[in-house]
Amino acid sequence: MNSIIFTTRKFLRNRLLDILSINSVPKKGVHILNGHFLSLNPNANPEIFQHLLEGLQKKGVEFINFEDAVNRIVNKNIPQNKCLVAFTWDDGFEECFTKIKPVLDAWNLKAAFFINPNFVDGDLRYREHFKRNIVLTDKNPMTWEMIRTLANQGHVIGAHTLDHLPLNTDDTAFLKEQIEGGKNEIEKQLDVEVKHFAFPYGQLKYISDVGVEIASKAFPFVYSQDNYRRYYSFNGKVINRRHFECDWPLNHVVYFLKSKSF
Ligand SMILES: [Zn+2]
Repeated sequence: MNSIIFTTRKFLRNRLLDILSINSVPKKGVHILNGHFLSLNPNANPEIFQHLLEGLQKKGVEFINFEDAVNRIVNKNIPQNKCLVAFTWDDGFEECFTKIKPVLDAWNLKAAFFINPNFVDGDLRYREHFKRNIVLTDKNPMTWEMIRTLANQGHVIGAHTLDHLPLNTDDTAFLKEQIEGGKNEIEKQLDVEVKHFAFPYGQLKYISDVGVEIASKAFPFVYSQDNYRRYYSFNGKVINRRHFECDWPLNHVVYFLKSKSF
């Protein structure tokens, strides 16, 4: 997309959200938020995430660990009087460790990080291609040591395929390589079972029914980043998350904590 059109659309979307979100309050339920980094701005300070959490808490949000949120959704243990929020981040960028983790630690919160092993292991050429053409941001990945530290400290490391390619295909060999290959590589590196999988790009159109079947066999838990007013997509096989980023205005995040149903 032309960058001027993109920037204009983003500006208009944000102004519209400013208006829509003025009187928003967090709705009861269990919400799993999904981001990628602290901010596209490389100079952003972790305080922006700290302030977002403080703002959400003032609005009545309670934060819970990722696995608690998943267990509540799976067991349909949804509180009638609380807004519970858990966090996940995709793509495994370095600032998840250097900037986001310290804030999570301060709140004693455990999150999930969905990673692409070939981005972690990629040579310079692979990484440049990955950053420029796939995730569209000039951020480096976490090292295995950082990822191992997260896992050892109680965070969940999930799989996000080997190469972050769209899974909207019926090519079984390709799907198995990407989905199961990512899981196997993380398990080899961390020596823990990987139970959680988020498919790349997150919109339901980016995974085929065959892809969901393969993912559901390989993992107990599969996640989208779509259809967030419903807890599940694909007939109960995929748990839905809601997109956010740490530098979004408080009211915009609150706006997306909408009432949900099964
Ligand atoms: Zn991703």
